[in-house]
Amino acid sequence: MASRKKVFPCGHKGKGMFCHRCKQEEEINERRLKRKSAWNEKVKSSPIDISHLPKKVAEKTLSVIEIISEGKSYHALKGKRLASMRQREVISIPVGWSYRLICIERNGTFDFVEVLSHEDYNNKLSSGGWK
Ligand SMILES: [Zn+2]
Repeated sequence: MASRKKVFPCGHKGKGMFCHRCKQEEEINERRLKRKSAWNEKVKSSPIDISHLPKKVAEKTLSVIEIISEGKSYHALKGKRLASMRQREVISIPVGWSYRLICIERNGTFDFVEVLSHEDYNNKLSSGGWK
């Protein structure tokens, strides 16, 4: 008798003390929320604004920042100095296909300035760079 299906207040049918379907959904939502708030924390703690970026680009930006912060060379990330602009202290590092991270080297440390799309990057270059 104990295993007979019943109708829960939510309208689902099932066995047991509570609706397993709703419980499962609740857990999935909870996990999703947790992931989301963990991500929001990451975005908030980023040294530069990445909240306007597509999530993939934002993630990639954070990993580039992490790599540089660990002291690894930007060369490995295909970064380059704006030597031809006479702004050698400005370093541009590709983030994915169409974004670039701008850093400025000051006294041997890297300041992260901004991430921009290729288009914005070119606009900024032609209007004088980051001086
Ligand atoms: Zn239910």
